Amino acid sequence: MTTPVYENFINGHFLKNQSGDTFAVKNPATDEVIYHVEVADEFIQNAAIESAKLGFAAWSAMTPIERSRILLKAVSILRERNDELAKVEVLDTGKPWQEAECVDVETGADVIEYFAGLAPAQVGQQQMVGNDFYYTRKEPLGICAGIGAWNYPLQIACWKSGPALAAGNAVIFKPSEETPLGAIKLAEIFIEAGVPAGVFNVVQGAGEVGQWLTANPDIEKVSFTGEVGTGKKVMASAAGSLKDVTMELGGKSPLLVFDDADVSQAVSAAMLGNFYTQGEVCTNCTRIYVHKNVYQQFIDELKTRTEQNIIAGDPMDPEVNLGALISKKHQELVLSYIDKGISEGATLLTGGKALSPASAPNGYFVEPTIFVDCKDDMTIVKEEIFGPVMSVLVFDDEDDVIRRANDTHLGLAAGVFTKDIQRAHRVIHQLQAGICWINSYGNSPAEMPVGGYKQSGIGRENGIETLDHYTQTKSIYVGMSNIESPF
Ligand code: NDP
Repeated sequence: MTTPVYENFINGHFLKNQSGDTFAVKNPATDEVIYHVEVADEFIQNAAIESAKLGFAAWSAMTPIERSRILLKAVSILRERNDELAKVEVLDTGKPWQEAECVDVETGADVIEYFAGLAPAQVGQQQMVGNDFYYTRKEPLGICAGIGAWNYPLQIACWKSGPALAAGNAVIFKPSEETPLGAIKLAEIFIEAGVPAGVFNVVQGAGEVGQWLTANPDIEKVSFTGEVGTGKKVMASAAGSLKDVTMELGGKSPLLVFDDADVSQAVSAAMLGNFYTQGEVCTNCTRIYVHKNVYQQFIDELKTRTEQNIIAGDPMDPEVNLGALISKKHQELVLSYIDKGISEGATLLTGGKALSPASAPNGYFVEPTIFVDCKDDMTIVKEEIFGPVMSVLVFDDEDDVIRRANDTHLGLAAGVFTKDIQRAHRVIHQLQAGICWINSYGNSPAEMPVGGYKQSGIGRENGIETLDHYTQTKSIYVGMSNIESPF
């Protein structure tokens, strides 16, 4: 059976490359190639830049309210096509349909809608300085590059293009080569909604194509989502032409469960923050610190619910709530972390093996895995695993657990469960993380800025402030009287 071949999306249409190079995309739940994609060769790369220049000229000349109206049209199309797009995400990522159907497209559309609404509200300043005055304009940056990870491909494309386009920029987006289709679908939807050709372009390929974007002098900004190590390379390369950067990187986030917490709620948060999207979520609370007085109760309920309530299998089955990991390579990496956990002395409470569910026997599944008796210096407690692997630790002192929670070079997210409102705020204010939850975990509405402290990132996505990251301020001084010159 022949599979479709997708070309790069440039200047409003698909464009064939000259090299003929393609790569294959597999469904992680079946290990089958589902389509091929053409690599963005030099011809495509040059065409993408020329296209984005034309797109930027047309788009930035429109008024914010005109741009807003078009983006809102794209939002309606995204919502109308929810099921079709959610299926693309399930087949590309291996995540459960029951998640993609209500989260991936929805949260992407929300962010474009949010920034479409804000765009016409952006204003400059004006101030008198004597009889003269100055005013400022918020101008777009020009061509922005977006580089995405594979866990939420369409959502990441929306989160990057929403503020960029609302502010009047053009975008060249490179999805992960594991999950290239969602961004193409978004590009088609933008065109259908009336976004001019060239405003949103999609280039395909592996790290080299991303690397080209970060080094290209015609590109003003890079917004990157991915691993810390790749983020450092992207930033170093972007420094060559002093590009603005936004970095959404990895995490090893703590969840603190105090002895006055609603333990069942805390268990729900821990399970969501480790097993949702089979653990492939950057903000996951992979270090769970539980107060010694509720530790036994917590792990008893956690084990029971994990063993009884998680259903792995064909991700398109609406009953399935644990999907396949993105690739064989990633499955092996996650299993190697589990081996390290065992060899370094942690106790497996449940899970720990690869899974081969009857409805998806060839998929890259890993059992939901929980380690107890964990110590702070174990590899599984220190390094991001990006799979369904939870580490549970015990504490008995508030100051000490805060110190332990902060003892990491990462700082993406953190959570606290307690019914004491003063403690909740006192503790969360001391945790070194950019995205925090009290008696909740994982919600990320369009209105709320998200991003990391320390090596988890730079800049923010979502929330009002993100629009500032896609504009630059022009100050204009206006003389109202004759110039006094000594010359
Ligand atoms: P990677 O860093 O491996 O890749 C991210 C993107 O960068 C991919 O498109 C990749 O291409 C591309 N890339 C690879 N090398 C380079 C390079 N030298 N220059 C430019 N681009 C390059 O991350 P993953 O895709 O493995 O995603 C998982 C990571 O993403 C985790 O660490 C996770 O925590 C983080 N993440 C962070 C989020 C946040 O908001 N903070 C959200 C989601 C994920 P290709 O894949 O095609 O090789």
